Amino acid sequence: MNRIALTALIFVLSVCAYGQGTQNLAPKNAGSGAASKISKDKSLTGERKTGGTTSAQPMDKEYTDSIVKNTTDKMFLTELIDHLPLSEKVPSPAKVLGYPIGTPNKLTYTADQYRYYRELERATPRVKTFLAPEKSEEGRDQMLVVVSDEANIAKLARYKEITSKLADPRNLTDDVAKQLESEGKAIYWLSGSIHSSETGSPEMLMELAYRIAVEDSPLIQAIRKNVIIMITPTLEVDGRDMMVDLYNYKKANEGKRFPGLIYWGKYVAHDNNRDSMGMALALSRNQMTTFLDYHPTVLHDLHESVPFLYTSTGTGPYNAWLDPIVIDEWQTLAYHEIEEMTKRGVPGIWTHGFYDGWAPNYMFYVANGHNSIGRFYETFGNGGADTADRQVTAESGRDWFRPNPPLAKVKWSMRNNVNLQESALLLALNYVANNKDKFLDNFYIKSKRSVAKARTEGPAAYVLPADETRPGSAAELVNLLKMQGCEIHRLTAPVETKEGKFAAGSYVVRMDQPYSRMADMLLDTQYYNVNDPRPYDDTGWTLGALRNVKTVRVKDLKILDAPMTITSGAAKAVGNLEGSATAGFVVNHTGEASITQLRYRLKDVKMSAAEDTFKIGDKGFNAGSLIIKADGNSADVQARLKKEVEDLGLTATGVDKLPEVKQHAVGTARVALVHTWINTQNEGWYRIELDRLGIPYDYVSDQTIGKMTNLRDKWDVIIFGPVGASAQQIVRGTAKYNDTEGPIPWKKSDVTPNFGGSPDQTDDIRGGLGLQGVAALQQFIEAGGLFITIGGNASLPIDFGITTGVSIQDARTLQARGSVYNTVFADRKSPIAYGYDDKLAVYFNQAPLFQVAQVGGFGGGGGGGGGQQGAPTGRPSGRGGLDDPDIVQGRPVPDQSPSTPGPDGLTAEQRWALGANVPPLETRPRIVLRFASEKELLVSGMLAGGSELAGKPAVIDVPVGKGHVVMFANNPMWRHETHGSFSLLFNAILNYDNLGVGRSERQRGGLPRAGEEEEQDQ
Ligand SMILES: [Zn+2]
Repeated sequence: MNRIALTALIFVLSVCAYGQGTQNLAPKNAGSGAASKISKDKSLTGERKTGGTTSAQPMDKEYTDSIVKNTTDKMFLTELIDHLPLSEKVPSPAKVLGYPIGTPNKLTYTADQYRYYRELERATPRVKTFLAPEKSEEGRDQMLVVVSDEANIAKLARYKEITSKLADPRNLTDDVAKQLESEGKAIYWLSGSIHSSETGSPEMLMELAYRIAVEDSPLIQAIRKNVIIMITPTLEVDGRDMMVDLYNYKKANEGKRFPGLIYWGKYVAHDNNRDSMGMALALSRNQMTTFLDYHPTVLHDLHESVPFLYTSTGTGPYNAWLDPIVIDEWQTLAYHEIEEMTKRGVPGIWTHGFYDGWAPNYMFYVANGHNSIGRFYETFGNGGADTADRQVTAESGRDWFRPNPPLAKVKWSMRNNVNLQESALLLALNYVANNKDKFLDNFYIKSKRSVAKARTEGPAAYVLPADETRPGSAAELVNLLKMQGCEIHRLTAPVETKEGKFAAGSYVVRMDQPYSRMADMLLDTQYYNVNDPRPYDDTGWTLGALRNVKTVRVKDLKILDAPMTITSGAAKAVGNLEGSATAGFVVNHTGEASITQLRYRLKDVKMSAAEDTFKIGDKGFNAGSLIIKADGNSADVQARLKKEVEDLGLTATGVDKLPEVKQHAVGTARVALVHTWINTQNEGWYRIELDRLGIPYDYVSDQTIGKMTNLRDKWDVIIFGPVGASAQQIVRGTAKYNDTEGPIPWKKSDVTPNFGGSPDQTDDIRGGLGLQGVAALQQFIEAGGLFITIGGNASLPIDFGITTGVSIQDARTLQARGSVYNTVFADRKSPIAYGYDDKLAVYFNQAPLFQVAQVGGFGGGGGGGGGQQGAPTGRPSGRGGLDDPDIVQGRPVPDQSPSTPGPDGLTAEQRWALGANVPPLETRPRIVLRFASEKELLVSGMLAGGSELAGKPAVIDVPVGKGHVVMFANNPMWRHETHGSFSLLFNAILNYDNLGVGRSERQRGGLPRAGEEEEQDQ
């Protein structure tokens, strides 16, 4: 899981704390070793004529000395990089930056990286720079550099045309393809530092670009001739500049505690490499768009978290939607690098372990998902540019996939890291150069087989039916597929297939198109066997289900011959305002976020929400539908409403008579999103959605909450974003040990100018919510506020006694890692259920398992002894069938019906047993959404021990004083994938002051039978 990666990150960062003051050990023989290898190079380059004579290329002695000096042992040098050729006219990185790459304590800001590449571009026709289409969220440019032989650069447009043709073989014959492959060049894309704490690749790439542009060894000449190299110098540009700031801050404050890299990009940290399905971040969209422009043969993503060089293949289970050829290519390239590096005496180059190869959410699925090769390295980084003594634990063990493991103890430098990355990349580039026809042909074959997929392995297509009740959500899903390069058609006439009848207007995602595999892997269901290696990340992601959009997997080939036209441009749901409107307007609640957008866009317009379903003519409306009365609103409301519903794809129905349905006013709640200074990773996905949808909110830290006295004056709803820490850790925050230490700031300063772009800053990250913060939150809730917890941070109100009746149970056998599960609405009268059908697929990752006490108390037995645990299920062995009552012979049949509860929902016996713990009816937790029964639980991903999750609450509304705490077990805003769950959160926000609606009916009629509810507190 990403937890593993985060642990690794924390380790890497923590290493810097004691990595100071180490000395560079110049290896004794490195110089002569380098020299001898250089002379080997000379003999290889002997054929090159310079000025009419045979001469070896002159070397940059000073730079070469720096390489050797900063490498801690000659075993970490290779003949490929132990020198740097000198050029009269092309500047080395040292000439522009002032230091050679791999100089200790030097990290380069993006602006200086770009300055270097632009100098290169000026000096040689072998280098060209471009900018990615979008700037970063904080406004920085993302650069793209292309390096190759000048003849290739001059004909770049032609080579792009060739890969573009090979990418779509529908109009190609094999003969023409062969000619194109022979004429074409392999395009190899190197992408630096998506992970900002992994600092080496942006440095290495500058030197690599120079080397490829100027060096004349046969190995480099072959690369230059046959490969067009694309370089993204730094992918996470915002995070890189903050990381360099942070490193400089540490250097300026030696011996003191320092913050972690709290923000990377504006929204997410490490999980910027989990956005390849959702494409919520500019960096993901830039990579996708650039891929579709160049169709590179390989996309190679550069990471640093394990020693010394892990080259990706993964343990499996491999993604089941990829062409097996790509998996062979992963292995071929990895083993080429391992063999060649091992031959050169470099230890610790390995593959297989580390990650699985299953989920398509990593950035390099821009390539893998589109018939190219996506691969990555993990090299050994020191989290900065220090030289440090490092211990290698698990990875220093020999294993079948790691016969030449890393050393257990090593002095490690930035230069070592650069050497290994650059050497292995040159070997890979050379291999691809020497086999470019094969790789281009593989690309063509994979593309061809993607087109054939509809008729070979199937399915024929996916259909998004036109009668979808959430057309806006369907259009959004279609647009995501389009962004992924997929073609989308629409039926022009109805068609009947074995899978059902589809109306004209239905979207069709044909599987006879080049990127059918990407669409298939996003829309299909996933099954992850629990006996497979432990998953590295999410195991299920079916986007139709998570977005609450109906998608039908159609195997019937008839769909391919149905009348349809290809769509162009963005899909959009048609919105309109219909009917006359003397009395007002009604907007159906479809369960889509657009309802909430409409409410906030027309901030001053008075609206109310229907508390039940109703009809206008033949048209049915859901509970939660918005009612806008003409009376009480200004005369321009019709024009303004028309404009917004047309933009949002909603339908407003004008009425001459208002529906006779119970309703309550719906305002524009004032929302705060709370973050900690421990981790901002997962709450960033909430900010992305709120910003994108234009729902206003204040972004505040838990420290700020702890210092405020009357939260209710400022906000109506407080969302505590997902943190992944215990309640006690949240309260404590980063420890403040004493007052003499001095603050640990995360703030813009002369040393840290880029911290100023952070979403939040503080003078001191120490201290968390504090007990005052807990008290302030309790006061806020009791005074009528709504407090929303996500996942495990429900422990905050539970453990600190703000709520009663809910507990968090430990899982014993459940294995439910990052998957899609079915839920059912247990209480359709709750405003949180507005707009939804009876069922909803949600994202859930292993915890928390909520338990609600039948009445009062603390919510059941936690990890200890719930009454029913371990009890046999079903009826005793006896006469009849499964549903028959057990009959004891020789006595009358007893009355087995449950005792009738009183108006408070309790039987006399229960009341007697509870004594002082009898809670008033109106304070009991209200389960709004439950996980489905075990048989119906799994949609996609992994499930074992499902009985522990089946029937458990997913969303609970707990009344406290005048306010409420709403707890989510599922994550309703996960990585821009769970659009179908957004309205659970938004409904709670819009109706924060009316969450009790429908409650008494539920309590009278809806109390579960004995044994159905969770066990009583004992
Ligand atoms: Zn990484």
